[in-house]
Amino acid sequence: MEFAGTIELVRSVVKAVKIAGKRVGLVPTMGALHAGHISLIKRAVKDCHFVVVSIFVNPTQFGAGEDFENYPRPIEADLEICEKAGADLVFNPSAEVMYGGEGLTWITVEKLTEPLCGRSRPGHFRGVATICAKLFNIVQPDVAYFGQKDAQQAIVIRRMVADLDMPLEVVVCPTVREPDGLALSSRNKYLSVEQRREAAKIYKSLAKCKEMREAGVTDAKQIIAAMREILRQIAGGQIEYVEIVDAETLEQVNEIKGSILGAVAVRLGPARLIDNILL
Ligand code: AMP
Repeated sequence: MEFAGTIELVRSVVKAVKIAGKRVGLVPTMGALHAGHISLIKRAVKDCHFVVVSIFVNPTQFGAGEDFENYPRPIEADLEICEKAGADLVFNPSAEVMYGGEGLTWITVEKLTEPLCGRSRPGHFRGVATICAKLFNIVQPDVAYFGQKDAQQAIVIRRMVADLDMPLEVVVCPTVREPDGLALSSRNKYLSVEQRREAAKIYKSLAKCKEMREAGVTDAKQIIAAMREILRQIAGGQIEYVEIVDAETLEQVNEIKGSILGAVAVRLGPARLIDNILL
């Protein structure tokens, strides 16, 4: 496995790989890698000849008062995980490398970034879209891999790629969960033992959503009320949102007909946890 800290090195390595006619996959991450990230890397290894994992805690997607400073950065362990998962190149640039210039250009995906996490994290998706566009331009992958865990992010990136005619495919991989249903997240590290136990109720609320939908309930308000009831039982938790939205447009749904996303955000101690279920 190779390591690159500069854009020039990534470009020269990938150029040689592409001249050899190989399919290049990119897995963008912020590090503190876990089984969720590993599933993305393994899927990329399965689909592609050459897999690049980027590890970069992107400052422009964090708001004031968020956890940018405290975000875990265990780079040695991350490199080992990437190597074991079969990655070919890890790109771990500094903030200076990624944002050294004056940076007057930003990517704003409208509408899709307004609901759900967009409400409490203004500017977040602008940062995400911009860093992904930069990574796509640097690596020039044939395919980029994202997790369903961050459903809104995946939808925003897919839309950016389509709207700006970026020459790559976006693949969204299923959410990897703990045995009790909690979605793996680098932010789970912030939870105490007790909070970690309580956090499993987030998945319970999503399972309830699925159960009611499968039982034929079409009134979104009724399902949301049942989900809220479960989430209210999280000791020390604070519900940020519980919504049922159209799985493509992210617009709120009243009467459920087509594909929907049940989406939840909860603040629990120092962590803000999000999860969703696609039905
Ligand atoms: P992050 O490092 O949190 O920015 O995540 C990097 C990528 O991994 C994103 O595409 C996430 O959606 C994805 N990811 C994070 N957690 C999971 C999980 N539990 N299952 C699947 N993918 C995940």
